[in-house]
Amino acid sequence: MSPRLIFWISNSVRMLLVIIGTVIASSMWGITWGLFLGLVAMAVLILMQLFYLQRLADWLDNPRSSRLPDGWGAWTDIFSRLYKLRREDEKNQTELTEWLARFRQAMTLLPDGVVIMDDVLFLEWCNPAAESHLGLSLIQDKGMRVTNLVRSPEFMDYIILGRYDTPLTLSFRDRKLITHIIPFENRRQILVTHDITESERIDMMRRDFIANASHELRTPLTVINGFLEIASLQPELDAATRSAHLKLMSEQGARMQRLVEDMLTLTRLESMDHLLRTETINMRVMLEQILQEAHALSAGHHQVTLDFNGPDIRGSTDEIRSALTNLVTNAIRYTPEKGTIQISWTNGNAGPKFTVADNGIGISPEHISRLTERFYRVDKSRSRETQGTGLGLAIVKHVLLRHKATLLIDSVPNVGSKFSVQFPANAVIEA
Ligand code: ADP
Repeated sequence: MSPRLIFWISNSVRMLLVIIGTVIASSMWGITWGLFLGLVAMAVLILMQLFYLQRLADWLDNPRSSRLPDGWGAWTDIFSRLYKLRREDEKNQTELTEWLARFRQAMTLLPDGVVIMDDVLFLEWCNPAAESHLGLSLIQDKGMRVTNLVRSPEFMDYIILGRYDTPLTLSFRDRKLITHIIPFENRRQILVTHDITESERIDMMRRDFIANASHELRTPLTVINGFLEIASLQPELDAATRSAHLKLMSEQGARMQRLVEDMLTLTRLESMDHLLRTETINMRVMLEQILQEAHALSAGHHQVTLDFNGPDIRGSTDEIRSALTNLVTNAIRYTPEKGTIQISWTNGNAGPKFTVADNGIGISPEHISRLTERFYRVDKSRSRETQGTGLGLAIVKHVLLRHKATLLIDSVPNVGSKFSVQFPANAVIEA
């Protein structure tokens, strides 16, 4: 039965009862008493309705804190329906609050900046990423014009032109941002910012690397092509000149091979930041091998010594050998004849340490922080003379990164250099 029907039936029954009561009272005590009692009963009914109406009005004034009465007659049904409505409303409110909290949390975690502005660009809300991208502060800047906060001519032009269908690449506060304005609702706009500083830096590095690598490969190729041209144009060249040319060509070929090998090593190291497999490295065997190679490279022109006083470590034998060999080879290549190269392997509180100290040409302080960049050389011609690829220390840096070790460089021009590798204490293998 519909609530409306219940309401009408219950009220009609009540009225009917009053009329029947009036008729019975009239027949028992006369018409005057009958009407009087009927009126009293009607008055009671009306007062009851007024009482519940008043309670309803009180409740509507403050539905959250005041309680609805249980009701009487048709009011029972009205109140129970109001209760139901309120419960649903409370449930919806809770759901909405929870959803809003989740939405805010998602916006807080979003790496992209989101700024909500009104139609005249007054800041209404922004997330933490937007605060950091654009230097905003929601607490302080709310209600201020975004164009007064993001002071950039490029951004102003973008706003003035209003061509929001294409994003703007904005250079702002040492960052590169892709900014996009999206109008929404009737009078609001969202400004989205995406930080591309890091990817731009990587792209730039990649472009530089390709340019440098091409340049490095072009030089030996030019030399080889030059000699090949001479050989084809002057077939009657004497045997001594021809063999000298062949020797130079094979040197340039070897140089290209070293370059390609170093580039491949670097690419392999860069593609994985962490070591996949580690093994026990027998440091005594490895360092004695490196010492022998150093003697061979120096060909008796330097005094090379090894002070072995450290433990075995865990790591990749091939990678560590290649890094330490690079450092020792550099010490020989950049130390004039009769110089000394001291290699040492020690253990301390911070962990095991490898050091190679030379009394060679040394390095000026302004170059030191850049030595591990790819193709960075202090003196290009000297590096080429000594068969350098310019990639040695970049390879060392990557190998050490994968072993959580650090490279320390200490050098004074014309006095000498000290390259140390500090391994973490947990790399030690207890004897
Ligand atoms: P390269 O193949 O040119 O030697 P590296 O990456 O091994 O490239 O070294 C980068 C630069 O660091 C070298 O070109 C050289 O200028 C400098 N360098 C490295 N080791 C030494 C050293 N022991 N003494 C002086 N300069 C050094």
